Amino acid sequence: MSKGLPKRSEDYSLWYNELVKRADLAENSPVRGCMVIKPYGYSIWEKMQAELDRMFKETGHTNAYFPLFIPKSYLSKEASHVEGFAKECAVVTHYRLKNSDDGRGVIVDPEAKLEEELIVRPTSETVIWSTYKNWIQSYRDLPLLVNQWANVVRWEMRTRLFLRTAEFLWQEGHTAHASKEEAIEETVQMMNVYATFAENFMALPVVRGIKSANERFAGAEDTYCIEALMQDGKALQAGTSHFLGQNFAKAFDVKFATKEGGLEYVWGTSWGASTRLMGALIMAHSDDNGLVLPPKLAPIQVVIVPIYKGDEELERISVKAKEIMASLRAKGISVQFDNRDTHKPGWKFAEYELKGVPLRIAMGPRDLENNTVEIARRDTLTKESVNLSEISIDKYVSDLLEEIQRNIFQKAFEFRENMTTEADTWQEFEDLLENKGGFVSAHWDGTTETEERIKELTKATIRCIPIDRKEESGSCILTGKPSTGRVLFARAY
Ligand code: AMP
Repeated sequence: MSKGLPKRSEDYSLWYNELVKRADLAENSPVRGCMVIKPYGYSIWEKMQAELDRMFKETGHTNAYFPLFIPKSYLSKEASHVEGFAKECAVVTHYRLKNSDDGRGVIVDPEAKLEEELIVRPTSETVIWSTYKNWIQSYRDLPLLVNQWANVVRWEMRTRLFLRTAEFLWQEGHTAHASKEEAIEETVQMMNVYATFAENFMALPVVRGIKSANERFAGAEDTYCIEALMQDGKALQAGTSHFLGQNFAKAFDVKFATKEGGLEYVWGTSWGASTRLMGALIMAHSDDNGLVLPPKLAPIQVVIVPIYKGDEELERISVKAKEIMASLRAKGISVQFDNRDTHKPGWKFAEYELKGVPLRIAMGPRDLENNTVEIARRDTLTKESVNLSEISIDKYVSDLLEEIQRNIFQKAFEFRENMTTEADTWQEFEDLLENKGGFVSAHWDGTTETEERIKELTKATIRCIPIDRKEESGSCILTGKPSTGRVLFARAY
C-alpha cells in the first residue's frame, strides 16, 4: 500500500531517505546539507521540545538566548575547543553586496569587510562564558542553570536528513557551579534526563555511558552520552552531556568569591540534544509501510476514517464520529476525523500508515447498525472490531495507546539485547561487526592509539564506556594488553 517504499532489508539507507520525504517530515534545501523541516516533521519536533523543556525546568533550568555570531577571537580562547571545531566553521567576512562594475550581477563588496570576522555558532560555550564573566562574581550567583533553544551550524561533509546536517536545531544547556562535585552531578543528571526522555517518550532504549578521550567533546574533561541502536545494527549518539572542568572559566577568566573569602575559577557543564533525535525516532521503530510513532510523540494519536456511500451515510457516521472525538479529546487524546471526499478510504489507510498514526478507527454503515467500530493498530498492523456498548471508548483507546507505547519500547529493547554481543577474540570481533552488527562488548587497553587502529581496521568506534559496566579483568581485543572492563564498540552514524 505504501506505493513502493523501498524495503529496509534491501536498502536501509534509501528506505530512510524515502520515508523522511514521503511521510512529509523534511526535504533537502538548495544549500547542500541543510534541510527544510516540513509541518508534520516539525510538529513531532515540537512535541519533543515541549517534553524536554518541561524536564529541564523541573530540574531548575531556565531558558535564555545568545547571539548567532561569535567573534572569531572568542573561539580560539580555548585551545582544544577551536581545534575541534575549526574544520567545520562557517565564517562571515563581509556585510554587504553590490552590483559588479562589469554588469555581471551581484558581488561581495570588497570595501565592506568586517574588522573582525564572525563565526556562525557551531556551539555556544565561548559566547556564553564571555557573558557569564559579567554575571558571576560570588558564590551567591551560583549555580547558574541556563538552557537555550537555537540553531547551530557545523559544516559537515557527509550529511543526511536529521541525522547529520550542516545547520541543525537543538538545545544547549550551559551551567556554572561552585564545585567540581556539583558540576559532575549536573552532568550526570542531564545525561539521565536525556535517557529518561528517550526511553519514556521516544520508546528508545539507550545505553548511558562515558566517551573515550578520542570521542570527547572539544574542550570537555569528560563527555557523558546516551547511545541507541538503529534497526540496521548501527549505533547513534542521541545526546551528550559534558563536564567542562574549569576550562572555559579559565579561558574567559570567570572567577567567583568563595564563601570562605577566596577567589576561584567556576566549574562548568554543557549538554545538548538535536534534531538528530528525529532521525533516531524514525530509524528505531519504523517499518516497510512507513513511520511507527510512539503515541506520546505522535502529533495525531487517533484518526477516524468514515466508510460511506453518499452524503446521507456520511452524515449519520459523522454524528457518531463526533461523539467519539469529543470523548477522546476530553481525555487529552489528539484525534482527527478525516471526512475528506477527495480520497478513498483505502488511500487514507495507507497514508496514515505511512505517517505513523498509532490508532485508526474505521466506521461504516454496518458499524452504525451494530454500534461497533474497527480499530487498527499501527505498531502490530492488527485490527479488531469493538462493540461500543460493551466498552467505554475513551478508556479503551487510552489504554491501547499506553499498550502501544510499551510495545514499541519492548520491541526496540529486545532488538538491542539481541544485537549486543560479547567478543573475546579479534576474529570474533571482526566477524560480529561484519556479519551481525550491533554493539560489540569487548576489552580495550584504554589507549587512543588502539582505538584509532581498531577504527581503521573495522570502521567501528567506541560508542561508550557504559556507566553500569562490571569490573572484569581481561585482555584488549587488539593488543592483548590488560583491561579492567568491557566497552561498547559499533559502527555508527
Ligand atoms: P555535541 O555538541 O557535539 O556534543 O553535540 C550535541 C548533540 O548534537 C549530540 O547529541 C549530537 O548527536 C548532535 N549533533 C552533533 N552534530 C550534529 C549534526 N551535524 N546534525 C545533527 N545533530 C548533531
